[in-house]
Amino acid sequence: QHAKKNKQAYQVYDPQFDQHAVERLFLTNSLKQAIEQDELTLFYQPKLRLSDMTISHVEALVRWQHPEKGLIPPDAFISIAEKTGQMDALTRWVTNAAVSQYVSWQKMGFDINIAINISAANIMDKSYPDYVISLKEQHQLSDNAITLEVTEEAVVEDAQKATEILCYLREHGFKLSIDDYGTGYSSLAQLKHLPVHELKIDRSFVQHLSTDESDKIIVRSTLELAHNMGLSVVAEGIEDETALLWLKAQGCQLAQGYFISKPLPADVFEQWIENTPYHISRTKN
Ligand code: C2E
Ligand code: MG
Ligand code: MG
Ligand code: MG
Repeated sequence: QHAKKNKQAYQVYDPQFDQHAVERLFLTNSLKQAIEQDELTLFYQPKLRLSDMTISHVEALVRWQHPEKGLIPPDAFISIAEKTGQMDALTRWVTNAAVSQYVSWQKMGFDINIAINISAANIMDKSYPDYVISLKEQHQLSDNAITLEVTEEAVVEDAQKATEILCYLREHGFKLSIDDYGTGYSSLAQLKHLPVHELKIDRSFVQHLSTDESDKIIVRSTLELAHNMGLSVVAEGIEDETALLWLKAQGCQLAQGYFISKPLPADVFEQWIENTPYHISRTKN
């Protein structure tokens, strides 16, 4: 008994945890309510198709509109949701909201593919995949409607399982993207069997492109590699025009970043669309 007590005391000693324990406990308990009570909200960040300078895609990014604490960024609660088994509920909420938004933008005449970020937990079994497939069928969405962004890290965790589930999603008409590409330490051998359409180069390689020669080398070789593998490329984190034009010249398909637009609430995004100098992808009818 005594030994066990000691062992436990030894195990729980983690100053990092102590420091944030209260905050984390608070967030864990209220996250469940936040999901149930619609305290979450989506911001939308456009992606620019460089070949014809058209806004053709948008990424949905979740925030928590907390009644007392204000707007909480996803980095502050996604990992809590992951550790406390709430990722399924959270991603379902996000997916449902993003699909509704897609449908209403279609009605307004905008033909803009919407990207949803999914976690490792969402591709461990078919529970989430079956949910998103059923939503797609219910709303009769086309195969160009939805992109699912999954981090390189999530895929490498259990590559075999991930490959199986991603194949399943691809068969059902979803576009699949590897997010934060270049940060997950995956080898080419691991990635070459993945049934994805797109690599999304992490912003750490893109942010300083216009001045950093080694970033240029990395991005250029990633583009060549991806294109040789038949994959499309998105660069995230573009913060200046030099980087944008350089990426266009290198044949990068899509660009995203503060230079084009920050993530915006839906109504602000609609105003942005009315005023942007870029073309907008519109429905045919
Ligand atoms: P991500 O999917 O890689 O999203 C890009 C993040 O970079 C966003 O932060 C965006 O605001 C930020 N960003 C975009 N352009 C620029 C730029 O030019 N410069 C800089 N410095 N930053 C830029 P955000 O919205 O705080 O999201 C952070 C991360 O949280 C996301 O990274 C994603 O991994 C995760 N996340 C967001 N929403 C969801 C969600 O609904 N589900 C899951 N599972 N994860 C989400
Ligand atoms: Mg993303
Ligand atoms: Mg990313
Ligand atoms: Mg990222």
